[in-house]
Amino acid sequence: MRQVSSSVLGSSDERGSDRRIIQKALEKAVDEGKRVTKTGRVATYIPELSKADPEHVGVCIKTVTGETYSAGDWHEPFTMQSISKTISLTLALQTAGYDKVFSKVGLEPTGDSFNSIVKLETRTAHPLNPMINAGAIATASCIPGEDPFELYLDLARKVCLNKSLSINLEVYLSEKRAGMRNRSMAYWMKSENIIEGDPEDALDLYFRMCSVNVTAEDLANWGMVLANDGVDPISGERLAESWIVRIVKTFMVTCGMYDGSGEFAIKAGIPSKSGVGGGILSVVEGRMGIGVFNPSLDFKGNSVGGMHLLEHLSKSLGLHYFAGKQQ
Ligand code: GLU
Repeated sequence: MRQVSSSVLGSSDERGSDRRIIQKALEKAVDEGKRVTKTGRVATYIPELSKADPEHVGVCIKTVTGETYSAGDWHEPFTMQSISKTISLTLALQTAGYDKVFSKVGLEPTGDSFNSIVKLETRTAHPLNPMINAGAIATASCIPGEDPFELYLDLARKVCLNKSLSINLEVYLSEKRAGMRNRSMAYWMKSENIIEGDPEDALDLYFRMCSVNVTAEDLANWGMVLANDGVDPISGERLAESWIVRIVKTFMVTCGMYDGSGEFAIKAGIPSKSGVGGGILSVVEGRMGIGVFNPSLDFKGNSVGGMHLLEHLSKSLGLHYFAGKQQ
């Protein structure tokens, strides 16, 4: 397949055929995703998530030049889960600043599962990065104000370009009831003075942030804003500061796919953040945002259909951050 020109969609002559190439590639990628859904399982440790249909596979692309492409179940709602960590980190850096946030949480990948507790005690006292659960709970605890969730929801609505984003109460209550592992991490971090306030407040904020409903289109919009250095390319409005966007995208490369980040970097080479709701947020620098959905997860908590879809798309459209021939 001819690769799409790197100037997003090429010259005007190329645009029509580039559009068809992208749409065909998306449809093929959804078929590829569907082929592997049976190799994973929906999350059950948050009981409400077990109701998802593992056969749903969808994708949406938003280019920085204003085009939208979609295929499959792109309109299905699902909760952000860990993808919220990209927005809560943005908010924490914006409101509490770099020094405060990174005095609570590190900058290194862990190589452990997203909900691992083990390195909290054996390595440094603070969690290794803001993309694992412990790190995200610590990051959330840094956000100041009377109602940090309202600040979060405002920012999420802004960067996803969707004013009607809202919380899925069933998922929130389900996780609040079942989230004992996260609770144990929060209390551990309180004992180490990493969390300064009430650990229940940090947890409640974290559970709420994870429980906001989105679609692949909402994620594609946030990805597009990230790809465009924090500026909405359509309105020209800056929605996130450039230095923060750079940090978020870098974490997406090093830690965005949990302990599967290394393999995904080799195979797809697209900065991405997954969530156990089945979503993946992806950024192709300077070109597009991609939102993907398939709730069938591998044992690391990554969407199997979503990853396969992205690997396929990366090859067919030439999206790997180190261009060159992919296997
Ligand atoms: N709310 C989920 C949890 O804390 C998020 C995990 C994820 O998406 O990786 O377990």
